Amino acid sequence: MACHCNIPEKQVPREFTSKEKSDIRTLMRFVEVYCREKHVLEKSPFTFNKVDVKLIRRKDLVLCRECTKLLRYGLTMRLKCPHDPKPMCKKCATQCYKGQYRSKIREIMKFSGIYLVKRGRLDMLYHYLK
Ligand SMILES: [Zn+2]
Repeated sequence: MACHCNIPEKQVPREFTSKEKSDIRTLMRFVEVYCREKHVLEKSPFTFNKVDVKLIRRKDLVLCRECTKLLRYGLTMRLKCPHDPKPMCKKCATQCYKGQYRSKIREIMKFSGIYLVKRGRLDMLYHYLK
């Protein structure tokens, strides 16, 4: 007999592992720093159907349109990373960031990495290099 309690998979909200949450938080922080320091364009609160910002961090995340697009892309890639444990993106064979996204995220990682180190946030950088 067919089970009637079966909910289609796509309707079940995805639970993140603590490693995923921590990676998502770091990615958000890096893009946030970059956008805040570099972009003076019109900004609005970040939203994304796959990730509820409120479950990840206490502070609102406010980004310009370009950074919003990039962060959504980055989060999508992180959430479908086929490797477990996830290797450092730099050393990964999959190289899921393509074209302009790839050069952009590298620029952000470099800029925000230096920014956070200067402000004593070595824990964030350590996380990134792990
Ligand atoms: Zn921006």
